[in-house]
Amino acid sequence: MSFASEVREELCQTLPERKCCRLAECYGILLYCNTFSKREIRIITENLPFARRLPRLFRRTFGLEFDQDPDLDQPGKHMFVIDSPDKLETIFRAYGQEHDSLAVHVNFGMVEKECCRQSFIRGAFLAGGSVTDPDKRYHLELVTSHRKVSAEARSLLQELGFEPKDAQRAGSSVLYLKQSDMIVDFLTMIGAPLQAMKIIQAKMEKSVRNRVNRRVNCETANLDKAVDAAQQQLTAIRSLREQGRIDGLPEKLREAAQLRENNPAATLSELAALADPPVSKPAMSHRLRSIIERSGQ
Ligand SMILES: [Zn+2]
Repeated sequence: MSFASEVREELCQTLPERKCCRLAECYGILLYCNTFSKREIRIITENLPFARRLPRLFRRTFGLEFDQDPDLDQPGKHMFVIDSPDKLETIFRAYGQEHDSLAVHVNFGMVEKECCRQSFIRGAFLAGGSVTDPDKRYHLELVTSHRKVSAEARSLLQELGFEPKDAQRAGSSVLYLKQSDMIVDFLTMIGAPLQAMKIIQAKMEKSVRNRVNRRVNCETANLDKAVDAAQQQLTAIRSLREQGRIDGLPEKLREAAQLRENNPAATLSELAALADPPVSKPAMSHRLRSIIERSGQ
């Protein structure tokens, strides 16, 4: 199941207790669903928990049934329709929207209380929201075909402490959040605290993984460097030997050359400890550099 479906499932476990919040949630659903016009309401969803809850929510809020109710045993998308004029009028009247007014917009009187605002946003998310799996990236969005509604929802979210960005996409208005902590707060606010925790968890795992990777990369790079250096030293020693110049080297350098040949994979510190008497790591490094210089490599 996708992360967005899990969020919807968590959101759909209960109905809002207060009538004001049920009305507000339905409002969010209607303004963010597929069609909300004077002639028809059409809500299409693939999410089963949402599809199961929708008729109950409308019955308890408006005391009415959908004119078209899908068979939820069928897989795929489920379509809910209301097209009888009296039901449409009941709903539009509940939101104080004149039956023949033109543009759909948010009646702020319906979302004055904080509980109702949260419910409104929950409805908007259920009908027109999505959120990306936090293992991939952080992105939550609300999409509606009503431009005015999107601008109004944006100021509602701002009043609730969010900073959504907006965009137009294929004739739709999009509000989106990209910061993980905002998405966590958003999901907690609308009633999905368990899924919000998953984002925090994913973020922590990602951060640990990054730290481990950085360390491994760093160690690998150091190892590569050490291997390259040892190769260069061995080439220099071989070349001095071929030129018959090894025996003419000062004793300390001869010893270093011998140690390196005998221990091609040893680290500088190991070679330094093998010297007789043992020397410091910088001293061994200096001797090996000197061998390379003398070889003319
Ligand atoms: Zn309320």
